[in-house]
Amino acid sequence: MTARLIPVDPASPDPGAIREATHVLAAGGLVAFPTETVYGLGADALNARAVERIFEAKGRPTDNPIIVHLADEAALAAIVTDVPPSARTLIARCWPGPLTLVLPASPVVPVVTRGGLPTVAVRMPAHPVALALIRAAGCPVAAPSANRSGRPSPTTARHVQADLGERIDVILDAGPTPLGVESTVLDLTGATPTVLRPGGLTVETLQAIVGEVAVATLQMQAALARSPGTQYRHYAPRARVVLVNALPERAGADLDAAVRRLWDQGLRVGVMVTAESADRVPPGAVVRVMGPRGDPRVIAANLFAQLRELDDAGLDAIVVEAIPEEGLGRAVMDRLRRAAGAG
Ligand code: AMP
Ligand code: MG
Repeated sequence: MTARLIPVDPASPDPGAIREATHVLAAGGLVAFPTETVYGLGADALNARAVERIFEAKGRPTDNPIIVHLADEAALAAIVTDVPPSARTLIARCWPGPLTLVLPASPVVPVVTRGGLPTVAVRMPAHPVALALIRAAGCPVAAPSANRSGRPSPTTARHVQADLGERIDVILDAGPTPLGVESTVLDLTGATPTVLRPGGLTVETLQAIVGEVAVATLQMQAALARSPGTQYRHYAPRARVVLVNALPERAGADLDAAVRRLWDQGLRVGVMVTAESADRVPPGAVVRVMGPRGDPRVIAANLFAQLRELDDAGLDAIVVEAIPEEGLGRAVMDRLRRAAGAG
């Protein structure tokens, strides 16, 4: 099977293209589609066999639950058993958008979709193509990122094709996804709202809306196994990722040292740096500039594409400059730590 690639206008997708994709979903097939975060791999969330096909196509461990995507708040009633007031407040302020809420699951949600958990993760994406598809499908759409499990998430249709082109039915191509990192996953089933995965909606924004918010560390996530997907090495290119954690004023010298150390081992080295450090990379390394240190939105949008590009260049190691863990920088650093093999 080779996926049919259907180009669509990101702002107003052709109804014919959307119809074609919904026929695939209705038949239990797999459709990759753009969201405002990354490309998702969609199936009818209530069709257990279709969701099993997502796990097979991705090579995803079966205890890693999948986020269910809705086209409106009203659709929540059919798949969760309780919507606490904090969820209503967050939904009113943040949907559609990159915020996923973990809530108690209704029994109609197949166990395979929930990775065996009693809860289900739900969100309403902000991308016009995603919304048009879910609305037309008339069912909740289970959609993890459309990459092979463990690889960097796809921010273009070409990334999806490279990983899954022979394993899925349709790819809706609407160009690069705007945010570039996945949604924030917030667990609302405990006493304190807890961020299980930092993402496109910042912790600072959540705190401004609901007050106290806990943030699970990589270690806590693994121990709790409440967000099982967080146990596995993720976002990883084939090349080894070396994260250089340095104060801004030392970053240049530390990057230079890290590159030379790898060269001494005879390795081919790529480097991802902030604009401020670009001139400190020793000549001879393959360089990608992530963006200005103070603008994590730009860095997030470039992150996965640059990891893939450097990987495709056949390098042995990728040295990446750490950025401040504020705002979207928290999501960027979470992905980089996992790419480097922590957690
Ligand atoms: P992905 O779909 O690949 O973007 O990953 C979805 C993330 O949401 C993973 O880290 C999952 O572990 C997490 N997730 C999905 N459903 C649940 C749930 N019911 N409880 C906790 N975490 C979840
Ligand atoms: Mg993923």
